Amino acid sequence: MEIRLPNTVNPARPQKVPYRRIATEEAWAPQEMLDIYNKILGHADADAGFRGLMGFYMSSPSERARHIMRCLTDLDQLRLQHMDEAGIDQAVVAITSPGTQVMDKATAVSFARSANDELADAVRRHPTRLAGMIAIAPQDPAAAAQEIERGVTKLGMHSVIINSHTQGEYLSDPKFWDIFAAAEAHDAAIYLHPNALPPSMLHPFQQCGLDGAIYGFGVETGLHALRIITAGVFDRFPKLRMVLGHMGEALPYWAYRLDYMHQATVKSQRYASVQPIQRRPSEYLRQNFWITNSGVAWEHAIKFAQGFLGEDRVMYAMDYPYQYAPDEVNLLDGMDMAPEVKKKFFQTNAEAVFKLR
Ligand code: MN
Repeated sequence: MEIRLPNTVNPARPQKVPYRRIATEEAWAPQEMLDIYNKILGHADADAGFRGLMGFYMSSPSERARHIMRCLTDLDQLRLQHMDEAGIDQAVVAITSPGTQVMDKATAVSFARSANDELADAVRRHPTRLAGMIAIAPQDPAAAAQEIERGVTKLGMHSVIINSHTQGEYLSDPKFWDIFAAAEAHDAAIYLHPNALPPSMLHPFQQCGLDGAIYGFGVETGLHALRIITAGVFDRFPKLRMVLGHMGEALPYWAYRLDYMHQATVKSQRYASVQPIQRRPSEYLRQNFWITNSGVAWEHAIKFAQGFLGEDRVMYAMDYPYQYAPDEVNLLDGMDMAPEVKKKFFQTNAEAVFKLR
């Protein structure tokens, strides 16, 4: 069988379909966050990856950047209009990258609370159209754990957004594990979303313009997920649920080699950090992770992921507003896939993972 990339896209408006389309990686930016970002960007030593990402979108005069900023800051008319035009019934909204994670600890903790309140208000205004993910400040794991509890029990949100590394630090470090304990205790899925690359990784990617969503984001976020797996997080928290975007940041495709080389590395006793874990890396991917197709409207990749993880673990996402492409919705509606599987992909898996009513 020849596997081709789609090269003809149907530009027609998405039609009525026998399922609700739920988009699960949709970004927003409260004005309060942009005000904090402006202060951070005012310092000459602001993180280079952050400056390259949000510094660009917030200051570029290009039509794309200005349009994205307008979309990011809206949780009402403009967003719902774009959802209508793309046939999106409901959007699971999360604070855009890097969210709180570029802020100092005190600012991040208090901002996360007010951002969650603001998002919960928007969900109350549009209860059938929007759902939210809980923002936290990983810089303060105890406060983050409390905010997860508040988000689930008081605000009715059942997932947590974490934008990959926090100022170069990874959740594989046990000092962050109060966050996992709270997520597991409240059965809130953690969506591990990309961030701009940390300084230690940035140069060889940025030099050739491949640091962003085109490639660098996926490399760094995939690395983060693997660090969490190999650190034994899921042995300690076996019911923890995690979500990865962008077809699992390519990890399903790596699974065979990850299993082989992880075992070989353990046996060789080459690294103190690589110790035996209870399951193979691929088993954690299949048992603790769900993935979305954000940014990848490619039937063959989606089917590979469904075959590997199971059809209950692969979900639709658009990545609005960064990849707002209604023609991709048409393309995915047209996938050669059993109707009940397509409904899982677009609707029921998301309802289960994010506990949507
Ligand atoms: Mn995204």
